[in-house]
Amino acid sequence: MAPKQVTVIGAGVGGLAAAIRLAAQGVRVSIIEQNATVGGKMGQIERDGFRWDTGPSVITMRHVFEELFAAAGRRLEAYLTLLPVDPLTRYFYRDGTVLDATPDLRRMVRQIEALAPEDVEGYLAFLAYAAKIHRITGPVFIYGEPPSLSTLSKTSPLQFLAVDPWRTMDQAVTRRVRSPYLRKLLDRFATYVGADPFQAPATLSVIAHVELSGGVWYPQGGVYRIAQALERLARELGVAIQTGMPAEKILVRDGRAIGVRLADGATIPADAVIANVDVATVYQHLLPPEIATPARRRRQANRPTSCSGFILLLGVEGEHPRLAHHNIFFSDDYRAEFSDIFQRGRPPQEPTVYVAITAKQDPSHAPPGCENWFVLVNAPAGDKQFDWQRNAAGYRERVLQTLARHGYDIRGKIRSEVRLTPDDIARQTGAWRGALYGLSSNQALNAFRRPHNRSRELPGLYFAGGTTHPGGGVPMAALSGKVAGEMILRDWAE
Ligand SMILES: Cc1cc2nc3c(=O)[nH]c(=O)nc-3n(C[C@H](O)[C@H](O)[C@H](O)COP(=O)(O)OP(=O)(O)OC[C@H]3O[C@@H](n4cnc5c(N)ncnc54)[C@H](O)[C@@H]3O)c2cc1C
Repeated sequence: MAPKQVTVIGAGVGGLAAAIRLAAQGVRVSIIEQNATVGGKMGQIERDGFRWDTGPSVITMRHVFEELFAAAGRRLEAYLTLLPVDPLTRYFYRDGTVLDATPDLRRMVRQIEALAPEDVEGYLAFLAYAAKIHRITGPVFIYGEPPSLSTLSKTSPLQFLAVDPWRTMDQAVTRRVRSPYLRKLLDRFATYVGADPFQAPATLSVIAHVELSGGVWYPQGGVYRIAQALERLARELGVAIQTGMPAEKILVRDGRAIGVRLADGATIPADAVIANVDVATVYQHLLPPEIATPARRRRQANRPTSCSGFILLLGVEGEHPRLAHHNIFFSDDYRAEFSDIFQRGRPPQEPTVYVAITAKQDPSHAPPGCENWFVLVNAPAGDKQFDWQRNAAGYRERVLQTLARHGYDIRGKIRSEVRLTPDDIARQTGAWRGALYGLSSNQALNAFRRPHNRSRELPGLYFAGGTTHPGGGVPMAALSGKVAGEMILRDWAE
């Protein structure tokens, strides 16, 4: 019997991971990618002797990538060198306090003893609490199939309460630590999925466990090396990757997905189609009207999303030895910042600024005596209230002023610059409203609200990527590819 054929739309992490899983099982897979290169939100830019990652910079859950390579009979180390990052992040506060988050518990406790000795037990209690949530939610919400009501019925009421869905993340943190420094540090983990710690369920504390206990990994050469490694593995397994070619429509016959029509008019028949594009974008542009009815399009379009971001890629003269690889410059009023983003629909008036500098690990990413700064501020996803085209230059000034107030005035030292707004992210990757991490995680039981990896409306269509289960972020998108691939194989076996 001829091998079955799967067509994947989009070469983001989820699409590449799904293709690898299926090709390793003997399925013929082709990937259609609109951009000239693979990676999607995980991108890179080189200019004026500088190199920057344009998307993700913090990589956690190393085991997810190890398992993906192992599923194809390969060792991760043969494709990627993942270096541990320590400090995980250096946190700068407006009063001059500096705190290094580290997985080295003894070092972490020593710093807390110096800053807020009464919080040592509270910090350890928070870590234990977050570890417990990970133990309970891992099999149900992260590493397996999308949860359903029957999954919930198998969870004991005590386990369900232990994951704390009705309390906010900030409440879970404030119950355990008193120091405003530690509160901000721990609250910030909600932003790893583009959420607001003052609204998002405390269940998201699981992210703190993943980073503070599991560590952060830097792929030598830059985060984009992950996309390149996945592309190489996929090609070795026989996956045909066509870049620079947008998919125009998912073809449907007799109520089933049967292939993809490309922008040049060619069609690729398929036994199954995986859309790695944000689900709302698929409904707006890629499905025929009998499937993407106006009501369904509206429903997808109106789902609240995670936040987006305003990004400055800066080639900076001079070296800054007090900065680490990952740095956070906190604003004074963290709550106001999230109100700006999620209630007022505008980028924060007083932003917290994130700066990642890969040249700290890879000096070749900047000319001698310079650094490559990736500067990110959380911003609302594609809100009509804020016109980036008109206001980006002014907001850039605000971000640079904020850094200057923290003692890093680089305004006269910028040798090269690229600016990315939420509109750019949407245009370049198909991200719905420019959201960085797919749908909003601000509501309790959000895991039940995400679009399923198997389309309920079109047999033969599957979804992989940050807007579907298990959610946004690089390792999660990779896991979504696993789920979609396994579903296809199981559906064919039935
Ligand atoms: C600025 C930024 C910072 C981030 N920081 C982090 C971080 O530190 N850590 C972390 O884990 N995650 C981070 N993320 C999130 C992470 O990058 C994403 O969750 C993940 O990469 C999404 O992968 P995906 O599988 O959903 O595919 P996507 O990256 O969304 O890729 C989808 C692909 O589909 C293609 N496509 C769209 N439409 C079509 C079409 N019609 N035809 C063909 N191809 C099409 C796109 O070009 C794209 O290549 C960040 C994201 C951004 C943007």
